[in-house]
Amino acid sequence: MSSFRAIQIARNGGLVQSSLVEMEEQALMPGDVTVKVDYSTVNYKDALALTGTSPIAQVFPLVGGIDLAGTVESSEHPDYQPGDAVLINGWELSQTHHGGYAQRARVQGNWLVKTPAAFTARQAMAIGTAGYTAMLCVLALEHAGIAPEHGHVLVTGANGGVGSVAIALLHKLGYHVLASTGRMEDEAHLKALGAAELIDRKTLSAPGKPLGPPRWAAAVDTVGSHTLANVLAHTGYRGAVAACGLAQGADLPASVLPFILRNVTLAGIDSVNAPHALRQRAWDRLATDLDPGLLEQMTTEIGLADVLELAPRLLQGQVRGRTVVDVN
Ligand code: NDP
Repeated sequence: MSSFRAIQIARNGGLVQSSLVEMEEQALMPGDVTVKVDYSTVNYKDALALTGTSPIAQVFPLVGGIDLAGTVESSEHPDYQPGDAVLINGWELSQTHHGGYAQRARVQGNWLVKTPAAFTARQAMAIGTAGYTAMLCVLALEHAGIAPEHGHVLVTGANGGVGSVAIALLHKLGYHVLASTGRMEDEAHLKALGAAELIDRKTLSAPGKPLGPPRWAAAVDTVGSHTLANVLAHTGYRGAVAACGLAQGADLPASVLPFILRNVTLAGIDSVNAPHALRQRAWDRLATDLDPGLLEQMTTEIGLADVLELAPRLLQGQVRGRTVVDVN
């Protein structure tokens, strides 16, 4: 295949525009592994990059897509051989290096993870950065000593990609999961994923008191801003909150009271530059702790060209769960 299809992010004047293009093999960037891509996915960060809402792409033109899964075609890296099933989450993809919205990718072998035998390429991308980040959040809560017997766990942005996978994981691990959402009409869907109770996100998104009655032992927060401040204010003694997102905002208008009076831990989560050993641990745990039936229930499949239409809708909070992209 000397030419292939890709979604390219370009900058014309000050305006970022994304489009479906035909690319030549020689336009691939330097790397020691070439991958035949089977699937990619659409995360919040992808939508930011494709629409130019945030300056994610730093060189132009650039193939979008922060995730990919496929098969090694050729390799000069000692850990990878042709035929290996591999995936990438994050690193430089869609920032300074061509990403997963293409039928071919040439990448650094150090960015790759071997796709766990439990998952097909499609399932690996149904998980994608969002699902792997949900697992990083669960690992952070466990690291802080949280266990199901300590009390309820709250997940904010419940209908989003990170939120949906977090609910499924925490439910399978035995937690009583509270799901905060702006889409209360999706109660049946969220309960099918494993939520025990729903909380209307409006009750968390306005400015609140610096400390309030304990309502949960731990939380996975994908929303930030006033929501995260309120989540912290209602976390119980020696509780923990894993903060990974900014769907409401990047600010944190909170006080130190939950930390100094309740010994609450605020754990930051970064998926993009997470060390390889932690990624491997997260993927190993996903293989055992994520119910494949629930993963399928939260997943929608689209083609490469459909990504362009989906991105602005995702930023408006109109997309539910996870979306996989069949790049072929
Ligand atoms: P999605 O768009 O799939 O989900 C975000 C969800 O947040 C929405 O579905 C909605 O859920 C809720 N939401 C949207 N807007 C608002 C708002 N104004 N106020 C409160 N809630 C809102 O995104 P992802 O799940 O892919 O990502 C979630 C967040 O996590 C993003 O901010 C993303 O940037 C971040 N992220 C960070 C990573 C890291 O490495 N730190 C990695 C992956 C994601 P509902 O309708 O249920 O309310």
